[in-house]
Amino acid sequence: MLEKEVKSTCSYCGVGCGVVVRKNARNRVEVEGDKDHPVNKGMLCSKGMNLHYVVNDTSDRLLYPEMRWSRSHPRERVSWDEALDRAAGVFRSIIEKHGPDSVGFYVSGQCLTEEYYIANKLVKGFIGTNNIDTNSRLCMSSAVVGYKKTFGEDIVPGNYEDIELADTFLIAGANPAWCHPILFRRLENHKQKNPDVKIIVVDPRKTDSAAIADLHLQILPGTDVYLYNAIGRYLLKKGYVDKNFIKNHTEGFREFREAVQAVSFSKAAEICGITIGDIKEAAMMIGRSGGFMSFWAMGLNQSIIGSEKNYALLNLSLVTGQVGKPGCGPFSLTGQPNAMGGREVGGMANLLAVHKDLANPGHREEVASFWGVEKINPEPGYTATEMIDALEDGKLKAIWIICTNPMVSLPNSKKAEAALKKARFVVVQDISGNSDTIEHADLVLPAAGWLEKEGTMTNSERRISYLPKYIHPPGEARPDVDILCDFAQRMGFGGFNYGNTPEIYEEYAQMTKGTHIDISYLNYDRLKNEGTFQWPVSEYRHPGTPRLFQDKKFYTPSQKAVFNIPKVTNPGFLQKEPDYPLVLTTGRVRDQWHTMTKTGKVARLKTHYPDPVLEINMVDAYLKGIRNGDVTEVTSKYGQVRLRAKITENIREGVVFIPMHWGKKLKSDLNRTNNLTSGIVDPISKEPDFKYTAVRINKYEKK
Ligand code: SF4
Repeated sequence: MLEKEVKSTCSYCGVGCGVVVRKNARNRVEVEGDKDHPVNKGMLCSKGMNLHYVVNDTSDRLLYPEMRWSRSHPRERVSWDEALDRAAGVFRSIIEKHGPDSVGFYVSGQCLTEEYYIANKLVKGFIGTNNIDTNSRLCMSSAVVGYKKTFGEDIVPGNYEDIELADTFLIAGANPAWCHPILFRRLENHKQKNPDVKIIVVDPRKTDSAAIADLHLQILPGTDVYLYNAIGRYLLKKGYVDKNFIKNHTEGFREFREAVQAVSFSKAAEICGITIGDIKEAAMMIGRSGGFMSFWAMGLNQSIIGSEKNYALLNLSLVTGQVGKPGCGPFSLTGQPNAMGGREVGGMANLLAVHKDLANPGHREEVASFWGVEKINPEPGYTATEMIDALEDGKLKAIWIICTNPMVSLPNSKKAEAALKKARFVVVQDISGNSDTIEHADLVLPAAGWLEKEGTMTNSERRISYLPKYIHPPGEARPDVDILCDFAQRMGFGGFNYGNTPEIYEEYAQMTKGTHIDISYLNYDRLKNEGTFQWPVSEYRHPGTPRLFQDKKFYTPSQKAVFNIPKVTNPGFLQKEPDYPLVLTTGRVRDQWHTMTKTGKVARLKTHYPDPVLEINMVDAYLKGIRNGDVTEVTSKYGQVRLRAKITENIREGVVFIPMHWGKKLKSDLNRTNNLTSGIVDPISKEPDFKYTAVRINKYEKK
């Protein structure tokens, strides 16, 4: 018997707002903000307010398994037995012939933790390959590298309450006003109540977030490292440093000092395209702050030097000693509801569950022993874009895609499309038919969506929440854990015979015992009865941990935080070529989310930004004879799109912007932004660069 009213968590961004869900007299689901929830205190943004439309409208939902026997035949409806027997048969035969590394799984930051855990256990523990990666690779992997290198663990030290305690904020490469609206509203309210609060925004575009900034540093794309190093230099020059913290709790300060002192203010200003005064003003605000927080997202992470940008920004928190106390700290913003949970269960090709390290033989043994398997393959698996390369060159023969739409979200769409066509077998497990990826599926498996299954998620501030099942999934759709466990058993693997989802959670929670993310004393009952908890929750009745590192003992071998020195400061300019004189940066709009398979269904969410457009500066438009509303052709070395121009002062000369959401299915191939992007990745984090593609623009003339 399902309950009349339940509490859950919004299924969009990583802010993790609480919602109350009930049914109205017409048996339709209604959603409102949960006034008791510590994250949003009843508030919801436009996407959250319209969650119920997505649930009530099932017209796009995948209802039955579908399969095709050959590429020349259409897919047809089959039973679950036929579908999963075929999947197991094909995977078994490919693995027997070509080895376990010939198959791969591509999952999502929208998966619940239990689903993520089972997928990783299946692939890394039982199939015997590390070829499982996630779409979080596209947004967070550079931040993971930054945290691990700086603090010794992939850990966000603080929490949202620090917003109301801090006085100076640096928002770097993020537009939370649109992409993390409730968190931004908290910041806005805080500033309204406390006029002395300072906000610095670093972004090549004048965004709604920049509109409330005291200082907007409209830097040229890719130049962030120079900026943060120059700010670091000025902090040293003016003595705005925490000597005690640096001496007792950090290492690498001397190298940091040498690196930043090598940066001249005039050169940094020239490279960044701002003034020396801007750099000094930002440094003064940070240096004089009693509580300094930095927020960042894709503008830093999605770069071929994403890891280096993260080091440079994190260094500012270390040099000022602004970490491990209330009202301060570095804080990466996650774009997906369970990007953090995915990292906890080792949801990337180079990670192991419970933050254990694939490169560490002892960790591999511990994980193998916990799962009762002989060993864990020591070789890192293919990352998101490497899977595409491996499909292209035939090394990867089968791919199973869960809860994500890579044909719109991966860079270099044409290459990704060709690679999927080459695959011997493609499984797509998802909820919606509005996905470009389904076109390439040999097997489609309908999955249960939000409110149709139970499980847990972790938001950006390490807060775990329980999501109950409230309604039944449509048609024959099944929870992802059921599908994966059923497949695993058909493959002949033991260890997947769970009675229910709480048993999976319990197994994972026990696996965390003794680690830095210990939740072994947190169970479904506590989550249901007491609400959300921030990990670790490592003792009986433990209340959770809002802030880490208050004892200034970090998780590095020396227990000190580490200054990491960016080695590459600005390779962006190297990519610019005479034939492609403009820099394209891509991003999100306020009312759409990812590839629009959910938000694209809601009419009222289309009014704010109805169609994808090319945002271009007046000067660049004038030089090309482009007027507002003209159709333009945007071309890179990788492909082309055709869009109307929107001339705006919000973007600086030499830079253009296109939102990333629209794909073939919801618009047309010529509106798919990732036709243009390169697929070049940060060599450390393997995160693709979506923020710096060299393009040329022409007015489109119909022939
Ligand atoms: Fe949902 Fe994020 Fe909006 Fe909160 S801010 S309602 S989590 S989309």
